[in-house]
Amino acid sequence: TELDTLDIIVLAAILLGTAAYFTKGKLWGVTKDPYASSFAGANGKAGKTRNIVEKLEESGKNCIIFYGSQTGTAEDYASRLAKEGKSRFGLETMVADLEEFDYDNLDAIPNDKVVMFVLATYGEGEPTDNAVDFYEFVTGEDVSFNEGNDPPLSNLNFVAFGLGNNTYEHYNSMVRNVTKALEKHGAHRIGEAGEGDDGAGTMEEDFLAWKDPMWKALQEKMGLDEREAVYEPIFGIVERETLTKDSPEVYVGEPNKMHLDGTPKGPFNAHNPYIAPIAKSFELFSVKDRNCLHMEVDISGSNLTYQTGDHIAVWPTNPGEEVDRFLNTFGLTDKRHQVISVKALEPTAKVPFPTPTTFDAIVRYHMEICAPVSRQFIATLAAFAPNEESKAEMTKLGGDKDYFHQKVNVHHLNIARILKSVSKGQPWISVPFSALIEGVTKLQPRYYSISSSSLEQPKMISITAVVERQTIPGRDDPFHGVATNYLLALKEKQNGEPNPTPFGLSYEITGPRNRYDGVHVPVHVRHSNFKLPSDPTKPIILIGPGTGVAPFRGFVRERVNQVKNGETVGKTILFFGCRKRTEDFLYDKEWQEAKEVLGDNFELVLAFSRDGPKKVYVQHRLKERSKEINELLEKKAYFYVCGDAANMAREVNTVLAQILSEQRGIPDTKAEEIVKNMRAANQYQEDVW
Ligand code: FAD
Repeated sequence: TELDTLDIIVLAAILLGTAAYFTKGKLWGVTKDPYASSFAGANGKAGKTRNIVEKLEESGKNCIIFYGSQTGTAEDYASRLAKEGKSRFGLETMVADLEEFDYDNLDAIPNDKVVMFVLATYGEGEPTDNAVDFYEFVTGEDVSFNEGNDPPLSNLNFVAFGLGNNTYEHYNSMVRNVTKALEKHGAHRIGEAGEGDDGAGTMEEDFLAWKDPMWKALQEKMGLDEREAVYEPIFGIVERETLTKDSPEVYVGEPNKMHLDGTPKGPFNAHNPYIAPIAKSFELFSVKDRNCLHMEVDISGSNLTYQTGDHIAVWPTNPGEEVDRFLNTFGLTDKRHQVISVKALEPTAKVPFPTPTTFDAIVRYHMEICAPVSRQFIATLAAFAPNEESKAEMTKLGGDKDYFHQKVNVHHLNIARILKSVSKGQPWISVPFSALIEGVTKLQPRYYSISSSSLEQPKMISITAVVERQTIPGRDDPFHGVATNYLLALKEKQNGEPNPTPFGLSYEITGPRNRYDGVHVPVHVRHSNFKLPSDPTKPIILIGPGTGVAPFRGFVRERVNQVKNGETVGKTILFFGCRKRTEDFLYDKEWQEAKEVLGDNFELVLAFSRDGPKKVYVQHRLKERSKEINELLEKKAYFYVCGDAANMAREVNTVLAQILSEQRGIPDTKAEEIVKNMRAANQYQEDVW
């Protein structure tokens, strides 16, 4: 089979590497495991060059694909471009994190090379965390490059694609501003600067539609010949017969070396979670088939800090049933605990998890196996189908957007479910495991708006999360969200259930080597700009329906504690909405307690969508309060919106402009201008998802 041939090639490559290790390794004083991938520290970046030109030269590459990524999608697109460039056009591609290079020598990249930028826009038109420095550099007023060419970037050929969301004001501003800046300095754009729209739900199709003409333009510019696409694995897999899953050097889900050694220490961040005890957890809804969790996470054993309005990231694990389905689909069930080492077969590729490890640990802790699948990946897997019929079906799915939508998207199918349905249950044993590492994205932490106040409890973070569950037409089992159902299981465990299986889902809840036992959850904190005014006497208007109320619970508790400390606080008016007072009214009692302390300075305005004959939403209530809202804004009130980005946040924005226009007797355009200026001045802040 193809797997056998591949294994032999890979094995040969690794044997060569091993021979090199035995001859040179000793001389260099290299110790320990020759196959282990380097996840030594939290970041493991020591000793790497930050010089792009040097990196391209030493690795023999002619195409570098930079990504600015927050949730992993841009990173995933970057690696897909790299793979396609290599397999279709023989480009020597490499993918690079923008954070890991300097930019003052962008002008020294020769014009027979191409630089691609895949850039997500985050929040209010901001760069992603890893792209901040790059963005400030290239769009800077007095940017200066090393070579002194005129214009400075006249040798630079670039390609650009942006990931954005049209429900935000600054749609795709990253790719737009970066393209503008590069062109201003004389760089040559190849093809259009593409824009994907998450708001319209067309990101994947926008990407696919953009890339074909881009490849054409690049082919012409660089004189590339298209060849029959051949799959070449990026990773080599070696079975380690001498190790078992219990050997101390084997990773069974630990995120890095410190965790493996049992000595995790800070800084805790997106590369290194803190395994935090859950101090308290309970259900917030009083209705049978929907759940919303309140969970208190204790960070006192760490050096983590937070401020009211920040986000906490939860690192989930996949449910056992989906792990089983995935392993079974690829014929790996019997080998699930087999220890393997994974090595990048080319120098610029990174193994996305630490090894040696097991198939089970990779699938459970490191792969987003439940997520939607890209059409491109389906097309790639056609070559490894178990029979001709399945291959034809995969090719059709990969090539026909409408067919794919109707067969896959509508039913919320994940990769294993699609393949099983295409092959009518026959396993896909010819798929090289490397293709799965390349094609399935890394399991991402999920963010939650912290719902506690750091003034009240600096070392205890609370989460308010609604459990994702959807009934899907044509499917007998509902769709379950990864992180929230894992949190639900943790909640049940924390409340005394020894083996929780919410909705029939089971989790490795005690974590790798039982280190999460005693009910722990891996987390880190992400600082946000969503903040109370520094002057507590300023009035605040809070719009937070559903779990959008999370950060406002923190805001209100903060003000209650300020008053208890003898401070004067301004008016707080909170608009909360949900379906029914008796079912999903969050923190009902707490608002009454806040009222006792804040008195007339606190007002809760409620909107129930299913309690009466008419659906009432927060934006309706806001409109009813036009006069008061306008007066508060004239007193420089801060305006905050949290929750649903797709509809609510946009409508609230529109309603606010209407209020200003009516109350102040000014034209709509003028009122919209004022709202824009409020946003620019941070007087209007959003925390939406
Ligand atoms: P996932 O498994 O990630 O699924 C999420 C959605 O993706 C599904 O509903 C579905 O629409 C789609 N999807 C997933 N798999 C498939 C598939 N195979 N096919 C088709 N569609 C699929 N949430 C809160 O409850 N409270 C908060 O305070 C909160 N704050 C947030 C703050 C920020 C800054 C952000 C970015 C998000 C916040 N969220 C919050 C949302 C939260 O991060 C998660 O997205 C949410 O909890 C769902 O996670 P999950 O892993 O359970 O669901």
